[in-house]
Amino acid sequence: MSAYLILFLSLFAAILVMGTAILFLHGYNDDLARAEGDLANLALELQERTEGTFRAIENVLCDVVGRIPEPSLKAGELDAFSASQATKAILVGAAHSLAQIIRIDLINGRGRIVGSSNPHLISDSIYVTDTSYFQTLSTDASLLSYLGEPMTIKTTGKKVLSLARKISDAEGNFLGIIVSTIDLSHLERIYKDHLGTRSLAITLYRRDGIVLSHSPIAQGALGRRFWKPNTPLQRVIAKNNPTLVRDMSRIDEKERLFALHPLANYPAGIAVSRTISELMAGRRLEARLIRFIAYLMDVAIDTASLLGLRHVRTGILRAASESYLSRHDILTKLPNRLLFSEELKRTFLASQRSGSDFALYLLDLNRFKDINDTHGHGAGDEIIRTVSRRLRERLRKSDFIARIGSDEFAIIQRPIKGRQQVIDLAMAMQAAMKFPCTANNAEIEVGISIGVALASSDGKTATELMKSADVALYAAKSDSESSYRLYDPNIKDSRIERRALEGALKTAHENREFELFYQPILDLATNRMWGCEALVRWKHPKKGMISPLEFIPTAEESGLIGPIGDWVLEEACLTAMTWDLPLKVAINLSPVQFRRRDVYASVKKALAISGMPAHRLVLEITESVKLTEEATATLKRLKGLGASISLDDFGTGYASMSYLRSFPFDKIKIDQSFVRGMMDSLDSRAIIKATIGLAKDLKMSTTAEGVETEEQLNALRLAGASQAQGYLIAKPMPREAIADFIANLRKAQQNARDDQFAARAIA
Ligand code: C2E
Ligand code: CA
Ligand code: CA
Repeated sequence: MSAYLILFLSLFAAILVMGTAILFLHGYNDDLARAEGDLANLALELQERTEGTFRAIENVLCDVVGRIPEPSLKAGELDAFSASQATKAILVGAAHSLAQIIRIDLINGRGRIVGSSNPHLISDSIYVTDTSYFQTLSTDASLLSYLGEPMTIKTTGKKVLSLARKISDAEGNFLGIIVSTIDLSHLERIYKDHLGTRSLAITLYRRDGIVLSHSPIAQGALGRRFWKPNTPLQRVIAKNNPTLVRDMSRIDEKERLFALHPLANYPAGIAVSRTISELMAGRRLEARLIRFIAYLMDVAIDTASLLGLRHVRTGILRAASESYLSRHDILTKLPNRLLFSEELKRTFLASQRSGSDFALYLLDLNRFKDINDTHGHGAGDEIIRTVSRRLRERLRKSDFIARIGSDEFAIIQRPIKGRQQVIDLAMAMQAAMKFPCTANNAEIEVGISIGVALASSDGKTATELMKSADVALYAAKSDSESSYRLYDPNIKDSRIERRALEGALKTAHENREFELFYQPILDLATNRMWGCEALVRWKHPKKGMISPLEFIPTAEESGLIGPIGDWVLEEACLTAMTWDLPLKVAINLSPVQFRRRDVYASVKKALAISGMPAHRLVLEITESVKLTEEATATLKRLKGLGASISLDDFGTGYASMSYLRSFPFDKIKIDQSFVRGMMDSLDSRAIIKATIGLAKDLKMSTTAEGVETEEQLNALRLAGASQAQGYLIAKPMPREAIADFIANLRKAQQNARDDQFAARAIA
């Protein structure tokens, strides 16, 4: 077998094992979680019922003690009281008050039974000094009551348990004991009712591990110790808290999942358990499958041990372990957020101890959501994997990288000797992203933003350090290009400003502080006005006119562009209907309106409200509108209405040419940057010429933007541009001004026609 084939087979098997292991652990964990919940609930319920039983018995004992007259509650006096017929009657009555009480005895301070509900008593001098309840209660001043060991009464075969309570004098000195013998079958009946599934077992244990009752009945379980020394079961019982624990049962020697619940007022507890093998029963097939595939892999790996493939197998076995899965990201195999924060804390402590410095990097892909939307989630996953690989390749062994969010990574660079080392790594990572990533047969440009904080200067705790790196990341993100930033206290958290701006925009919309300006566009063939572009302004009550460049991005991020955009559409159409000439009106649409809003419905509504014919409407979009199937369909429907579609800012995007091919635009707007440069730069001129030629071939018209000089206008005319827009022709102006502007034009046109008419009439 060739080395490559083995490698391939091993990898294939690895994937299978991983997949099955993950599925298996998922299902297994679900089953386990459910079983854990059921067991814990049952343990709680049985604890309450058992506790209730003991309390009822103890109440009876207290009642009897309460009836001992004062003078008898002295050393030496208890015997006489106990021996009386009246006391016997009390004891018999008390024993009969509860079915689970077999008998009640009074025991004096020396351990002799001095009174009993038992009719056959008393031949003299029966001592109970060797019982654990007597020994404990007579010596331990802190205990009031005690549960003895379970016993089987030889004559009747009844299993019994003693619950004893201390009798003291007024000063609290030990006088004797009242002890009840309890019929355990009462508790067994309660437990038996709950024995649903096959392997379920219910145990009542004393704190020292002695089994007081066990259901189902098991030979020899009673009175035995429930745990082996130094096992999980022993340790958790000692802690005396409700817990779940997995351990071997000493009663059936099987591995079980136990839910433990201690009693509140007695040194005992309830354990409810099921065998692990029963819990896993439904999963045995998968378990066998995994073992089989692992075996296949073993064979492949043994054959290929020369290739040094061992680590593949160890990697997989590790992957299958629960803790690995909960601390790693499945897609990239990198540590996840949980492991990262543990590691960050560890690194922080270690660096404080050793005095060495480290750097924390937070990285974020630019516009990852767009990539997912345009290329699909499969491509998105592919890109995440590529990015994680490229980043990892730039790190040393001692550094640490984790994927902490869908498109977020965190890196701990440790140790570091200075800022230059940090800048070097940040630049190396940026450089690693210079080449496009291949996914879904497409080459996709991926940029990353990086924020860095240094442990020595930017935070006193791991949390503070995270915050600093995050502020730096956000500052890097607001740069137009992919960049990195090192934290410094002067960086303002731009999010705070953005949130303020968002709030202000919302009120601005409610208070109708937006206003549209209109910029005329000249038709170069006829030398007449072709139409206007509507441009939004924010008339801030204190700050005056604010440019759209300052607030449109925030409006887009917050989604407010939706309602604002709808308002722009309606307002522009309504205004155009007041003009003296039926000129075109061009309106800018944001990509967010395409993604989040039904643009088609908005446009139809604006046309309906204003009554403007659709052919006067021109919609401008930029390359940032992703031409998904859905977006293209919307554009087609808009064209179907009679509106035209312009491609704005042409030449500034990455893939202008291919973009142009994906939709039949009516018009291309040549970006002002080319017009500005056209008199000095051959390149700009060449691009303008080429664009105009291309547009002609594609039967599209062209508008040159930002025309500021006569020179530029003449050159554009020569190059064959259809229209021109810019300060040379007119600046954007408010609603009233544009109405006057158009009214004057109309008058001029009228006059010109009148003159022509007059001239023809004269001729
Ligand atoms: P744009 O669509 O490229 O609009 C043309 C911009 O160029 C306008 O800036 C306009 O005032 C400016 N301009 C026009 N002639 C000249 C010139 O000769 N020289 C120079 N230097 N500039 C000129 P404005 O009004 O600041 O708008 C900026 C951008 O804001 C617009 O660029 C457009 O992308 C966006 N925008 C404006 N109004 C809206 C709107 O209602 N909705 C949306 N989504 N975006 C809008
Ligand atoms: Ca525009
Ligand atoms: Ca433009």
